[in-house]
Amino acid sequence: MSAHEQFAEDLALLALGALQGEDRAALEKHLEGCPACRLELEHLRGDMALMAMSSAGPKPPQRSRQRLLDAIAKEPRATAADTAPTRSRFNWWAAFGWAMALAMFLVVVQLRRENSVLKDSVNTLAQMMGQSTVELANAKRVVETLTAPESQTVTLVAAKTPLQPQGKAFYLRNKNSLVFVASNLAPLPPDKIYELWLFPQNGGAPIAAGLFKPDARGNATVVNPPGLPAGVEAKAFAVTLEPAAGSHDSPRGTGVMQGGA
Ligand SMILES: [Zn+2]
Repeated sequence: MSAHEQFAEDLALLALGALQGEDRAALEKHLEGCPACRLELEHLRGDMALMAMSSAGPKPPQRSRQRLLDAIAKEPRATAADTAPTRSRFNWWAAFGWAMALAMFLVVVQLRRENSVLKDSVNTLAQMMGQSTVELANAKRVVETLTAPESQTVTLVAAKTPLQPQGKAFYLRNKNSLVFVASNLAPLPPDKIYELWLFPQNGGAPIAAGLFKPDARGNATVVNPPGLPAGVEAKAFAVTLEPAAGSHDSPRGTGVMQGGA
């Protein structure tokens, strides 16, 4: 038996990090002078890395598995030089080595499981995003229909009733969201502007809720005016005719229309 064959099993153990003590020292000494065993050790280490990183499954690459089995099969036959304690030591370390390999496979299996859980999360998020996109598109359509200049706005009233200025406020106080649509507004006098006011339920001072000018057909919209405080319950809305810069703390101009919430 050549020296390499004697060291074949120890090479597998060394690659697994399970070779210690005198045996390790002896093998390392042999490796210094034996390119063939050094090459085999590199192969074994490469196979270990492949096993640990394999995404193909918890099965080791066939090539590596076969070579490890071959290494075990080359276990020295009982000879006069083979004392019983040596054989017993080898079997124990071999079992330890395979236990290490099994542990690596279990890590791979666990990683694959986690990967699967992550994939499920990604799918759920993608579904939620799809739903949000649909909701956003619907919201955009509603707002666009209410506010686009090219949107046809038709006011329907009882027959033979002269058209009066009118407005509709849609107010969602929990979302701090306000959409106001007005029609049949008289053209603005010079240096004047229309202003929308929110009268709080708690009797507090009226809150300025947006300045607006009607278009040529007398239509106007106010969408989510800036500076609206959050969560205020509305008792009423009103529109006044104010100086061109608007009023901030309270309405000073003439009332145009109003309505209780
Ligand atoms: Zn050798």
